[in-house]
Amino acid sequence: MLPAELEEWMLSEGEPKYRAKQLFPRLHRGESPSEISNLGKRLQEKLAAAFTYHLPAVEQKLVSALDGTVKYLFALEDGNCVETVVMRYEHGNTVCISSQVGCRMGCKFCASTIGGRVRDLTPGELLGQVIAAQKDLGERISNIVMMGIGEPLDNYDNVLRFLHLVTCEEGLNIGARHISLSTCGLVDRILRLSEEELAITLSVSLHAPDDETRSAIMPINNRWGVDALLDACRVYFERTGRRISFEYTLIAGRNDSEANAERLAKVLNRHLRTREQTMPIHVNLIPVNEVDETGFQRSGRAAVAAFARVLESRGIRATVRRKLGSDINASCGQLRRTHLAKKEN
Ligand code: SAH
Repeated sequence: MLPAELEEWMLSEGEPKYRAKQLFPRLHRGESPSEISNLGKRLQEKLAAAFTYHLPAVEQKLVSALDGTVKYLFALEDGNCVETVVMRYEHGNTVCISSQVGCRMGCKFCASTIGGRVRDLTPGELLGQVIAAQKDLGERISNIVMMGIGEPLDNYDNVLRFLHLVTCEEGLNIGARHISLSTCGLVDRILRLSEEELAITLSVSLHAPDDETRSAIMPINNRWGVDALLDACRVYFERTGRRISFEYTLIAGRNDSEANAERLAKVLNRHLRTREQTMPIHVNLIPVNEVDETGFQRSGRAAVAAFARVLESRGIRATVRRKLGSDINASCGQLRRTHLAKKEN
């Protein structure tokens, strides 16, 4: 519930409004109403009768000895599990949350999509990952990336409500500018998002410069091709003024040649740097994490460097993503899969 809704509920129960102001921040710190004794016994009982309060439970927790990255396998109320990762940066703790149990987008290199989509996460479960991680760590989380399991724009309404909740001043108060949402490219939803007046950062998983290469690894490209996707990105930038960053997973022999890089620079410049509009372009290069089931291999160091060089020479900022938590299997989808496989045996 948003603060105004909780107030309304209090009023409808004949309770004073200030009760909502008392309750809301503490719920968002991970306290259940039964623990908040200054609400009074009668109100606590009413709350218990009207609502359930569940935080994701820590099913498994791995801490990287290399860089302190923490990976949680969280169990939801119905026993389904999702992954949540906390990365420690100098500028603060960033949590990477999941948006669905599984995923139906079918990207060929991705572990999260192998068993399809089981269900969407509720706004409470999206928020609960942030609250539970912060509570377990005992440290403030200041940034959120929606890059875990699932396609956030395939769970649009719940994700939007979550964004309204997590940015609430009375709650976790994480500014929209500290939140990134990553999508494989649902064009209709990108356009819808551009009208929400939310200052979040959009990341687009591009992974290929042309339709032939992209369709071979990302089925969504059969619905919306590269041109339609980049057009939507331009509209998003024009409407929000927020630049978009592009993710590009480098897979040996599939999309990592210098010719691919030339084509990528060309198509990005053509769509995003028109005469009227020049969007700063940033490409995040990610050597693919090898997943047993997919058979894809990561590009070599020289190929990655050459790819980045071509982009830079065309005026496109390219960075190679630093790999965190490599000793704890911190990339999305893999821990949940191992857990499912164990349960089946
Ligand atoms: N569904 C959203 C967010 C989840 S995935 C999206 O597609 O953007 C977060 C990022 O990790 C995406 O860019 C995704 O393409 C990438 N990714 C998935 N599997 C990967 C792998 N095995 N190696 C490297 N990146 C991967």
